[in-house]
Amino acid sequence: MVRDAAMRGFRAVLVERVDLGQGTSGRYHGLLHSGARYVVTDPVSARECADENAVLRRVAAGAIEATGGLFVTTPFDDPAYADGFLAACAASGVRAEEVDAAEALRREPRLHPGITRAFAVDDASLDIWLLLWANARSAERLGARILTYHWVTEVLRDGDAVAGVVCRDDRTGEQVRIEAGFTVNATGVWADELATMAGCRGIGVVPGRGIMIAMAHRLVNTVVNRCDLPGDGDILVPIRTVSVIGTTDTRAEDPDDLSIPAGEVQAMLDAGEQLVPGFRGARALHVWVGARPLVDPETDEDEVEDTHHLSRDLALIDHARRDGVRRFLTITGGKATTYRLMAELTMDAVCRQLGEARPCRTAEVPLDGFEEEGFLRLGDRLARQEDRLLDDQLVCECELVPRRAVRELVAREPRATLDDLRRALRVGMGPCQGGFCGLRATGILHEEGGAGAARASELLARFLAHRWSGIQPILSGDQMRQAVLDEWIAQGLLDVGHLPGAAEMDLDRA
Ligand SMILES: Cc1cc2nc3c(=O)[nH]c(=O)nc-3n(C[C@H](O)[C@H](O)[C@H](O)COP(=O)(O)OP(=O)(O)OC[C@H]3O[C@@H](n4cnc5c(N)ncnc54)[C@H](O)[C@@H]3O)c2cc1C
Repeated sequence: MVRDAAMRGFRAVLVERVDLGQGTSGRYHGLLHSGARYVVTDPVSARECADENAVLRRVAAGAIEATGGLFVTTPFDDPAYADGFLAACAASGVRAEEVDAAEALRREPRLHPGITRAFAVDDASLDIWLLLWANARSAERLGARILTYHWVTEVLRDGDAVAGVVCRDDRTGEQVRIEAGFTVNATGVWADELATMAGCRGIGVVPGRGIMIAMAHRLVNTVVNRCDLPGDGDILVPIRTVSVIGTTDTRAEDPDDLSIPAGEVQAMLDAGEQLVPGFRGARALHVWVGARPLVDPETDEDEVEDTHHLSRDLALIDHARRDGVRRFLTITGGKATTYRLMAELTMDAVCRQLGEARPCRTAEVPLDGFEEEGFLRLGDRLARQEDRLLDDQLVCECELVPRRAVRELVAREPRATLDDLRRALRVGMGPCQGGFCGLRATGILHEEGGAGAARASELLARFLAHRWSGIQPILSGDQMRQAVLDEWIAQGLLDVGHLPGAAEMDLDRA
């Protein structure tokens, strides 16, 4: 959104209460939808996904791995679904091509040998971090400001119009007042909160909670979907070095308090086993949870339990028409796949209301600033890194993060936390889950970022606690061994829990 606004020549400010991607976008499944998943249940979203899939391959290729996708009928699926699926793909203009089941098994030999039908689609994996940072950097180059760790606490009103926001800078404690000619509420699953702050009626966003588990290897190299009505654990996405099984879809009460029930973890592993026999024998690396912003004006939100059936369509709300509050729009719902379209439609509406003709160019102008081609493949990164190892050691061996990259980020942003380093550089995302690299990165924050001893130990303890919340529910096998080793290092050698600063910390917020 902020890039779109900046490209149209607006002086734009993005305000984010934590770090970019700390909301739902950083907790999603990693799939650039072809649209095929929704052709039967939600053809409007299917069409939007198909169109945006084609656009993003043109303008954001650096964040996409063109894995391709397969829909497969396993022995656990309704065999009658496949013909209707193919017809619905044709009706929605979503490409789907039947391939011989034997050919699908040749492509993906770990798939269940009992699959009877397979369809190739244009699914891909989308690295959200690369995409977010590229958008933010591009917007900044165009003069926009990105204010992270700024929490909107008040929406300013000037009569019947919104006139900006007041935020709390969580790093300094200061109040920051931003006056604006137009304000867009793009807070996803938190959209009701912001709308209410502006004096509007709530929007009725239903948080659709979903868990996902990253397995430590690429068990498949193609996005694999079950060819049946959308259900739990029916998609396996290969992304970077891992494959991610997901997801569940149930109503959450509070998007800031999302649980990972043990039963759902087991259900995901069982679902993985149905797609790839032996799945449970692989190493489960990390589990996480996010909440989809789902909007369905027809549904009484208090009655929703299972959120699979709620539309994935986007919702653009004109508060002037709905609530009599001018210069204020809400955009929510949608998918990561349709993020660009959501921004385009919103900024078109802003321009219409301001009476200015400023066309959107994000579908034509490619995002620049991605790393070199092949960055998504660990092998390519290793080849590049090997030449530099004598001058630039690795801080994180799992994700091949060099010391230089951490130092540069800390020099740019001395107040960075270890979770910021994880989101920006992937420190701690690999098999050791921060057990080794977390300590090294803390050393750099201490030596070069000016973090005093108390701050450095607080950052480390907080980071390890956050990593632990995604490891504890899946502890078994090799990951259990790794966790025990990490625990010995953190508690046995460093006594992390009793370092100065760590004891008093509030672990609730990243
Ligand atoms: C389990 C799961 C799996 C998914 N899988 C996929 C998938 O594979 N493919 C796909 O395309 N989509 C997927 N989605 C959907 C997709 O992730 C979301 O639609 C998308 O990320 C929402 O983006 P957003 O920018 O609207 O919301 P967010 O990313 O949540 O951004 C909103 C931001 O607003 C900030 N905010 C809130 N309140 C305030 C405040 N008071 N002050 C300042 N900032 C505030 C939040 O911190 C947050 O970062 C999935 C979603 C879930 C939950």
